[in-house]
Amino acid sequence: MSDAVKVLLVDDDEDDYVLTRDWLMEIESEQFELAWVDTYETAVEAIGRCEHDVYLLDYRLGDRNGLELLSVALCSGCKAPLILLTGQGDLEIDLKAMRAGVADYLVKGEIDAKLLERSIRYAIERKRAEVTLLEAFDELELRVEQRTAQLKQAHEQLQDFFDNASDLIQIVDLEGNFIYVNQAWRRSLGYSSAQMQHLNFREIIHPQERDRVLEAWQRWQSGAGDANLETMFIAQDRTAIAVEGSINCRWEDGKPIHIRGIFRNITERKLSEARQAQLLKEIEGANQELRDFAYIVSHDLKAPLRAIGSLATWLATDYQEKLDAEGQELIRLLVGRVQRLHNLIEGILQYSRVGRIREELVEIDLNELVSEVIELIAPPEQVTIRILSPLPRVWCEPTRMMQVFQNLLSNAVKYTDRDSSPARDGDRKQGNVIVSCQDRHPYWQFSVADNGIGIDPQYFEKIFQIFQTLSPRDESEGTGVGLSIVKKIVEMYGGKVWVTSQLHQGSTFSFTWPKHKVEHR
Ligand code: ADP
Repeated sequence: MSDAVKVLLVDDDEDDYVLTRDWLMEIESEQFELAWVDTYETAVEAIGRCEHDVYLLDYRLGDRNGLELLSVALCSGCKAPLILLTGQGDLEIDLKAMRAGVADYLVKGEIDAKLLERSIRYAIERKRAEVTLLEAFDELELRVEQRTAQLKQAHEQLQDFFDNASDLIQIVDLEGNFIYVNQAWRRSLGYSSAQMQHLNFREIIHPQERDRVLEAWQRWQSGAGDANLETMFIAQDRTAIAVEGSINCRWEDGKPIHIRGIFRNITERKLSEARQAQLLKEIEGANQELRDFAYIVSHDLKAPLRAIGSLATWLATDYQEKLDAEGQELIRLLVGRVQRLHNLIEGILQYSRVGRIREELVEIDLNELVSEVIELIAPPEQVTIRILSPLPRVWCEPTRMMQVFQNLLSNAVKYTDRDSSPARDGDRKQGNVIVSCQDRHPYWQFSVADNGIGIDPQYFEKIFQIFQTLSPRDESEGTGVGLSIVKKIVEMYGGKVWVTSQLHQGSTFSFTWPKHKVEHR
């Protein structure tokens, strides 16, 4: 490929071509390859092929001129520089040509080899610089477009994120005018875009809350930091919407700009809390009534029952001679039933006292308490009660704790002592009852284990219900209240009670008790 600069001369005068060719040959520093066309039409065709590095256009081309050719060349996308050649003193053409985009303008009479070479060189250099600049500009434009697209995408993602958030998001200016709210906000509060334009944050705060929130508003503006806020907004349909969230102020150059808030609609939660509180109140009321009822009824039943008992005993003693064996047996049964009824009433009274009559909480040493209970129970010879591990000190109502151990230990003794199954050596089986404690942080776990009659697993739940006993009514002197009292007391302190047992092997009753001081429920 030749390095020569390809020049096309468009001139209808052959003399000018010869002259130009001679000038170009004169130039030693550069090689030129000169082509020549002499009509406007052939020039249009040649320029359209874009084969040349530079074009020299004569202004006069028959009834056309070089400026027309110039505009055709530029329209056809000609990238090479065009130099216009004119006669002397056509200043007007010079200006027009420059505006139209020629690279240079040469007056024919003043041209010599040097001037031509310089003009061609400068025109080519300028054009190259121009092309490089244009390319750089195109590149820049492309980057701006890409960046704009990325920003648009990021903006859309952000918008999508806010709109799909379930929280209510808002931005207001320092006067309280809304700058932005997301869809969840609109959905919850129901204001239209047109309403939003005239809406002020102050107007959506529930009247009861307004003073408090506006006071806080001053603090947020003065940069008192982030603030949690639970309040009530007023929706478009005038319903109150309970919200909780956080508010913070955006600062720029040390000045507050706007206030952002992110809230959660907690109306449902608040309603269900209120319903729950109401329900609890009702249950508490009903419970209280029931406790009072149980107490009053049981209390009032005791007096006539005592009278019946006395009458029956009196009958049995004073009329002993007048009654035959059957009559005496019936009276014995009557006294027994009265006693049983008395025990039941006593059980109800005890049960109703738990939680109704409250003692002060004290920290007590369970070793002492359990020893005292054992002494009270006074187990028969064939039953031994042992405390396996040292027991801790716990916070409790002493009477209630005594009841728990008394009921568990007396059951253990009762249902061990009752176990008449002979041991292998033929003697009556020795009853063993063991009290122990384990650390189950944050609870203590206490167990009362015996080697008595045991309980069928199908009754593990049933025995904790009030009045539930496993032996037939007539045989049992128990009322079925003891374990239900234990359960009630333990649960009142947040603990649990359960049993593990195997028939004829023994039972272990366990319960947990909090280590720290708990006000009972
Ligand atoms: P009560 O002992 O007065 O009948 P409780 O509520 O204390 O009432 O006990 C309910 C039932 O659970 C008892 O009737 C008995 O059948 C069973 N039970 C309780 N403790 C034991 C135990 N240690 N061994 C076997 N059975 C027991």
